[in-house]
Amino acid sequence: MQIPFDNSYARLPDGFYTRQNPTPVKAPKLLSYNDNLARLLGISAADTDELAQVFAGNTVPAGADPLAQLYAGHQFGNFNPQLGDGRAILLGEVIDSNGIRRDIHLKGAGPTPYSRMGDGRAWMGPVLREYLISEAMHALGIPTTRALAAVATGEPIFREQGALPGAIVTRVARSHLRVGTFQVFAHRGAVDHLKTLTDYAIARHYPDADGPMGLLRAVCAAQAELVAQWMSVGFIHGVMNTDNCAITGETIDYGPCAFMDAFHQGRVFSSIDRQGRYAFGNQPNIVVWNMAQLATSLVQQLDDKDAAIEEATEIVHAMPDQLESAWLRRFAAKIGISSPRPDDVTLINDLLNLMQTDGADFANTFRSLCKADARDQFANREAFDHWSEKWQSRRQSEPDPDALMQSANPAVIPRNHRVEQMIEAAVAGDMAPFERLMKALATPYVETDPDLHRPPTDAEIVPATFCGT
Ligand code: AMP
Ligand code: MG
Repeated sequence: MQIPFDNSYARLPDGFYTRQNPTPVKAPKLLSYNDNLARLLGISAADTDELAQVFAGNTVPAGADPLAQLYAGHQFGNFNPQLGDGRAILLGEVIDSNGIRRDIHLKGAGPTPYSRMGDGRAWMGPVLREYLISEAMHALGIPTTRALAAVATGEPIFREQGALPGAIVTRVARSHLRVGTFQVFAHRGAVDHLKTLTDYAIARHYPDADGPMGLLRAVCAAQAELVAQWMSVGFIHGVMNTDNCAITGETIDYGPCAFMDAFHQGRVFSSIDRQGRYAFGNQPNIVVWNMAQLATSLVQQLDDKDAAIEEATEIVHAMPDQLESAWLRRFAAKIGISSPRPDDVTLINDLLNLMQTDGADFANTFRSLCKADARDQFANREAFDHWSEKWQSRRQSEPDPDALMQSANPAVIPRNHRVEQMIEAAVAGDMAPFERLMKALATPYVETDPDLHRPPTDAEIVPATFCGT
């Protein structure tokens, strides 16, 4: 296999990572391969068997320099001074045909020095969930890591549920630099490493950023935009720990994530998020909290601490306004308004409040606003009619509200019950539901497979998702 590697992270000093090869598996079998992405990356392979061997970690391709990255992180608000890739291995980087450097990274590739008590493996459920949802996010136009390949290992994985089929996902990202990558060096007082990392992040992602505070400013802007985009499609990340928060502003580390059916600001899917820390409506608060942790780490390298703290505080404090304006722009588009005014916040929130009271379906309600049947989504139709009158008069000054709404309100999202049904089928050897979902989700703003738009019936509802790593 030809992969045009150019491994910049591996050229960083010792202490950023540990060199580590993937651990071979018994019987690799390719579950899915992303040809379009492979082409973008300049990857060519002889056949399916070779793809399976490489993306299972059994064959290390020429030019790869496999390593496990070190990082720390706040998990549910508690600082863990050392995490790191416990089951993931960075094979290396390529510069894609758009000139963008991208990491190629195997997740579930065996133990590393950072595995702690874990087995270094993943099972097929989370692997296919990440593959499908990350590609769906990409098609929705939301910054995200991508999925290049999924391979079944032919080995059992032991989890609470018992023995499960093992699998590995190959993830492609602009980088795997996390807030936690900065935290580990800041916490250790390793100022030289912190400076090296900061310079590396600026050069790789934000070449116009002026020093550590310029980097902070750029990451805050990217993260504010990202969270507003999540909110606009009803996405709940589920585990916004600082080690799962990418400097690039890409969605990363798909675990117990899910898209909402019935709208509720307090919606939580993750079975371990008992306090609702990462509830739908709390995501903007959490991303600010995460950026405050990045700020705290970045200031450690500056000589004039008082000035740095003052500037960092000003940058982080500006974030709620950035989030609010990104949120307003995204949600205004969903109701056909291209240049929102401050008082549109009330119009949007009035609709969301009605939806929450009636348990209206998030995706279908917004999509149905493009048609004439939105009132059918509500139990209290008079209340909707009342809102709709105000909305219609506001829309009158808009040039082409319908086209805007069509492009801001997906027809199809990866509904949780469909994802779970897909996993159940895949474990039983049937990849047809996976293929069907992938196909529809590739063009989410087009109505290609109406049965996939349907919310779950009571019997189909999947109320919780499990990290189940
Ligand atoms: P996550 O919550 O999946 O992002 O993982 C948090 C930390 O736990 C990271 O350091 C992971 O590498 C590690 N981890 C998760 N699952 C495993 C596993 N099965 N084996 C080893 N480490 C793991
Ligand atoms: Mg993680």
